Amino acid sequence: MSKSILIIYTGGTIGMIEDHEHAGVLKNVNFDQIEREVPALKRFGYRLDIITFDPVIDSSGIKPENWVSLVQVIARNYAEYDGFVILHGTDTMAYTASALSFMLEGLAKPVILTGSQIPIGVIRTDGKENLITAVEIAAAEEHGRPLVPEVCIYFESSLLRGNRTTKYSAEQFHAFESPNFQPLATAGIEIKYNRHAIRYPGKGTGAGTGAGAVSGAGAGTGISPFLPYTRLESNIALIKLFPGISYRVLSSILSIEGLKGVVLETYGSGNAPLDSWFISLLEDAVKRQIVILNITQCSRGSVDMGIYETGAGLSRIGVVNGFDMTTESAVTKMMYLFGRNLPPEEVSRQLSLSLRGELQEDEGL
Ligand code: ASP
Repeated sequence: MSKSILIIYTGGTIGMIEDHEHAGVLKNVNFDQIEREVPALKRFGYRLDIITFDPVIDSSGIKPENWVSLVQVIARNYAEYDGFVILHGTDTMAYTASALSFMLEGLAKPVILTGSQIPIGVIRTDGKENLITAVEIAAAEEHGRPLVPEVCIYFESSLLRGNRTTKYSAEQFHAFESPNFQPLATAGIEIKYNRHAIRYPGKGTGAGTGAGAVSGAGAGTGISPFLPYTRLESNIALIKLFPGISYRVLSSILSIEGLKGVVLETYGSGNAPLDSWFISLLEDAVKRQIVILNITQCSRGSVDMGIYETGAGLSRIGVVNGFDMTTESAVTKMMYLFGRNLPPEEVSRQLSLSLRGELQEDEGL
């Protein structure tokens, strides 16, 4: 039976053209333009259906509501399609991929995000290869099951786990990196899948109960069913430490009314100043049930709060270890866990666990 893939076009450079009124400025267009430029897509012989966001958005304007819309579209169409391809701007693609990985619990089908650095109508575009290969990966199966049942980013020959990915270059075709986890596949003459790195349903530590199963997939097999989540909590903050960060700045952020949690980007292996005002501001926040998650500013490696006194100080006051999570994963995971209305202790516990392969609990690498 022929494969069916749903393409969801949200916007981004891949579908942009030059604005005639403002020379040199790019604006979003509808999917027809993309389809005209890539007639080869039809040669797969798959059923390809398209849903276009209205309006299409430059991904720098993406909001949690848009992630909810994406989850709803996927949930509504989950049973009908073998895989999903999301066309998205590169700027926040890693946030969207991370958010979706948490919101789509028990995912058993491929959700592949891609886009491009040069619009698809431009001769040197990278968009055609990205789109064609993303569709091929979304349809790939082995022994009757999808080869990559994960939320991934496919870009410039690499298939990366979405929640391990970060935007790395604003100018090269090689726009994304997954610094702490190997690619799930690489596309050369052949697409080579790293089967041992791919998470299959039932593998990993996914915990929790969702708000209603959508399909019976996995029922009675010990595999958790597909459970889409559609609530996210945005009342969180992201603080990147820098030498000279002041009491006034930190105390203002930590006293925001209703603040649920803070992702704290610390130095190296999770280190921060030992100044007593700094530690006591954080300690006071923890006592007020604000969850503080420690991730590193380094793009490679992991937090280990046992190495230096500066990290141990944070651990003692109840700061949570985020291990080797990307900023994108840490932020969206916190939004997802608080969105589930879990108590702060449970949010803290799950933040340090790998729910969707987003962190390595041991030494990070
Ligand atoms: N600003 C664009 C966006 O993220 C950039 C891109 O698509 O690469 O939507």
